[in-house]
Amino acid sequence: MGQFEGKTAVVTGGSSGIGLATAERLAAEGAHVFVTGRRETELQKAVAAIGNATAVAGDVSVAADVDRLYERVRERGNGLDVLFANAGINHLARLDELTEEDHDRIFDINVKGTFLTVQKALPLLNDGASVILTASTSAESGTERFGAYGASKAAVRAYGRTWANELVGRGIRINVISPGPADTPLFDLFGERAEEMKAAIGAALPAKRIADPGEIAAAVLFLASQESSFVYGANLYVDGGMNQI
Ligand code: NAD
Repeated sequence: MGQFEGKTAVVTGGSSGIGLATAERLAAEGAHVFVTGRRETELQKAVAAIGNATAVAGDVSVAADVDRLYERVRERGNGLDVLFANAGINHLARLDELTEEDHDRIFDINVKGTFLTVQKALPLLNDGASVILTASTSAESGTERFGAYGASKAAVRAYGRTWANELVGRGIRINVISPGPADTPLFDLFGERAEEMKAAIGAALPAKRIADPGEIAAAVLFLASQESSFVYGANLYVDGGMNQI
């Protein structure tokens, strides 16, 4: 039996990258996984790859879309055991370049989207449920052009501490994962320089390479499972040593 046999999971942004890798592993361990994302065709491809999964298209920054997702979960009738609030975007801009629209878009998806995803799950979360929020090394690194993104991820980390405290009485654990650079479509924002940037960023890490999304997923599964039963409100870095050494 897999360690998530009979469990229900939600992975936001589950159609690619870290979310897809995590959804695949949760399903392989027996969970039924609801995946969300904005692109219906990408989601359908993801469901085919994941297997035991349901796609619900929607935007995490739109309250009605998040309601629709949880209505589908509620209809299944088993509550919710694992919630991976993973959907997120980046946009590279220095302080003097950042537009109000781009600032708001990053905070709408990364911060408000995380808030809506967790708040609207509250009635469904079962006793012993595990919630994992997605921050980033960028919350602390001060990398040029990562200002709005880093600020949004610092907000997610702060939410994680408070929500972990607020939900402890319900037997729900909340933890944060902070990936370092991982080989996902997020690198598309570098355009045709994406591969060059992966190599350069990887070479600068203690690990001498960027992560495979499966390496981040492995850490998410740890936080989702009873293997992490004494871990509350933590921020788990999976960053090839980037912010550690
Ligand atoms: P990705 O682009 O492959 O995945 C992001 C997912 O979020 C996609 O499925 C996308 O469709 C979805 N998404 C984006 N906006 C959405 C919205 N408004 N509503 C619903 N879904 C939406 O990139 P990834 O690297 O797998 O990113 C996953 C998470 O990991 C993000 O929160 C990202 O900030 C974080 N992260 C990534 C890295 C990295 O180097 N790849 C490093 C640190 C943190």
